[in-house]
Amino acid sequence: MKSILNQLIQLQELNFAKEEQKASNSQMPLAQLEKSIAKIRSQLPPDVADRYDRLQKRYPLAVIPLAHGNCSRCGLAVPANVVNAAKAGEQLQYCPHCGRFLFFPDTIARTPKKKFDGNRPVEVGIARFSAANLMVPKLAATTREEVISELAKALGEGGFVEDAATVTELALRREAIVSTAVEHGLAFPHVRDVEGGGLTFAVGLKEKGIEFGATGDHLSKIFFFIVIPTPATAFYLRLLAGLVRTFESTEARKALLDCEKPDEMWKTLAKLTKDTIP
Ligand SMILES: [Zn+2]
Repeated sequence: MKSILNQLIQLQELNFAKEEQKASNSQMPLAQLEKSIAKIRSQLPPDVADRYDRLQKRYPLAVIPLAHGNCSRCGLAVPANVVNAAKAGEQLQYCPHCGRFLFFPDTIARTPKKKFDGNRPVEVGIARFSAANLMVPKLAATTREEVISELAKALGEGGFVEDAATVTELALRREAIVSTAVEHGLAFPHVRDVEGGGLTFAVGLKEKGIEFGATGDHLSKIFFFIVIPTPATAFYLRLLAGLVRTFESTEARKALLDCEKPDEMWKTLAKLTKDTIP
């Protein structure tokens, strides 16, 4: 059963990656993604695959973690026997209310409820999601793993996630399914289904570029590491679209990559995204 569940989760990640590519207006070929999707789908028992397809038509995400005994999507309480069976991993479990597949997450990333200082004025634009201390103008990292771990550490030290190691592990699991690198040297490593506060991201720069899994062996230079609470999933796609729209421009990429200090980088990012992320 575990393997069917893992296949379902992979299938969902691949389908969601397709949504991400659409949101990022990517010109990258979807053929490889479609091929992987078809392959995993063909390995599932037919009734499970059919159910998945039906759910997918209604909901962007159909395989959902339990959170404190509730379905983390519809939010309703799930009977204890379903929770226990999901925990034991004996057979596939469904939410009795919305019908989505349920699983018991082995690892959960959490963000504190209150993420920014109390006295800040009401924020607009990217100030709702990030801060100067989450800007890393000169990443020390030289590999994909190190980029993710370095940005997770910034989130952890800033008090934006409870445990940087957990966030790193979950982001790497996601990268292993399909890379989050897109065109223009951009990459969007992320962790979904985070519990707690709001959507938050850290940004790292590596002028020289890093092999992050982009097609055609292109190097990635600008990394947005995003932690996404379950209710913010749809918004995350809009944020992604806004960031890509901003940094499609060569001048915008250059302006950001030229930054030497976190404060300077933060001001530059705010200015560049003023219209794309209102
Ligand atoms: Zn539900």
